[in-house]
Amino acid sequence: MARYTDAVCKLCRREKTKLFLKGQKCLSDRCPIEQRNYPPGQHGLSRRTKVSEYGVQLREKQKIKRQYGLLETQFRNYFEKANRQKGITGDNLIKILESRLDNVVYRLGLAPSRKSSRQLIGHRHIIVNDHLVDIPSYILSPGDVIKIKDKSKKLDIIHSSLKRTKDSQYSWLSIDKASLTGSFLQVPERVDIPLNANEQLVVELYSK
Ligand code: SF4
Repeated sequence: MARYTDAVCKLCRREKTKLFLKGQKCLSDRCPIEQRNYPPGQHGLSRRTKVSEYGVQLREKQKIKRQYGLLETQFRNYFEKANRQKGITGDNLIKILESRLDNVVYRLGLAPSRKSSRQLIGHRHIIVNDHLVDIPSYILSPGDVIKIKDKSKKLDIIHSSLKRTKDSQYSWLSIDKASLTGSFLQVPERVDIPLNANEQLVVELYSK
């Protein structure tokens, strides 16, 4: 599968905000955004161009797409799906993205970042409802139970990530740290999702 391989911190600097792509480093003072919150490159600090309406919408789309680690076609497909559903398209879009298995494994604290979460899933460590699932984009339904495969329960990355995760961080998820079992209780409401982005601008961008 194609994937983005550039230095990820540059993506945050480009968007001038934390996208939380590097796990623990994002929460520490080693995060480059804490020190250099301006776009990368020779003219990153000095460039002051007026951004057009299209430019603002485009940046917002990039911000969301990059936080969830998606490529353009995947993101566009999710938008089309959200647009076909009843309700507010922007809300629908974020709810679909939040229901992806890689996102839920990350939010449960079983992986330090969505990228690590995709690796855990791709390397066949994750079980959903008693079946091994190795597709990061798998969409969960309310009531789904996520476990770690027995043979993988000693993986350091899982335990060190869980150690840093607070209990009950998200009302729509639950995690039993002792058994490494999580549940996707319900699809979250948009207001409950901690996402630094304005998805309405994406709707406007794609509606042109
Ligand atoms: Fe890098 Fe994380 Fe900071 Fe982004 S938030 S710049 S990925 S350390």
